[in-house]
Amino acid sequence: MMHIDILTLFPEMFTGVLGHSILHKAAEKSAVHYNVVNFREFSDNKHSSVDDYPYGGGAGMVLMPQPIFDGVAALKERADSKNQRVILLCPQGTRYDQRKAEELAKEEHLIFICGHYEGYDERIRKHVVTDEISIGDYVLTGGELGAMVVIDSVVRLLPEVLGNEESHQKDSFSTGLLEHPHYTRPADFRGMKVPEVLLSGNHKMIEEWRNKEALRRTLERRPDLLEKMELTPQQEKWLREVEKEDN
Ligand code: SAM
Repeated sequence: MMHIDILTLFPEMFTGVLGHSILHKAAEKSAVHYNVVNFREFSDNKHSSVDDYPYGGGAGMVLMPQPIFDGVAALKERADSKNQRVILLCPQGTRYDQRKAEELAKEEHLIFICGHYEGYDERIRKHVVTDEISIGDYVLTGGELGAMVVIDSVVRLLPEVLGNEESHQKDSFSTGLLEHPHYTRPADFRGMKVPEVLLSGNHKMIEEWRNKEALRRTLERRPDLLEKMELTPQQEKWLREVEKEDN
């Protein structure tokens, strides 16, 4: 079972997200255990404060090292496993992607630190953290939403969390490409028809159509992904066909 600890000043923010849908079901199936902790609990000063003015002056407050150093140490001490990834949500971190989600899904114990205010004391980054993750090139108020994004994308990859093992393997990015389009009933919705091939019952043709459409969609929307990928000779052939069809 994966163990996920979250250090935050706003534990209530996680109630909705961890208590519903796949993330909730994953915990019910014992694929994951969540532990949301307010790191104010670890503050050793009499006002339980966690932040202070920045040395050198300037706007905003900075998270102090002590509550976070002691919080992470306490969580590690309570843990069964010796290996933890301590993840700091941070706009200056490595940009998050599916590869990173796959890497983290192999771990037994993840500890998330959600920052707030202007930022955190640099010694946290240098001495406590193993990974700094940014969920994109924009600035959020706090690390909570970022932690939720990472946790959601990791937990859905854990074995037996999604009903059908297949269902994340063909997701966008897992294959290196964007996923092909989907259709469901009715076959004709107000004159908008489902592609014939999907109604044909011919699994080989359907698979080929999906492969080609995934290439077409990636070429249209994210050609940068194609540049990074090593295509099979068959995919190269389909890609050339797609390029011809679209010109
Ligand atoms: N002053 C900081 C800077 O310029 O890098 C931004 C601090 S931000 C207002 C407060 C907290 O929100 C950060 O410490 C981090 O935990 C979280 N945060 C903000 N943007 C984020 C992003 N793109 N990805 C992950 N976490 C983010």
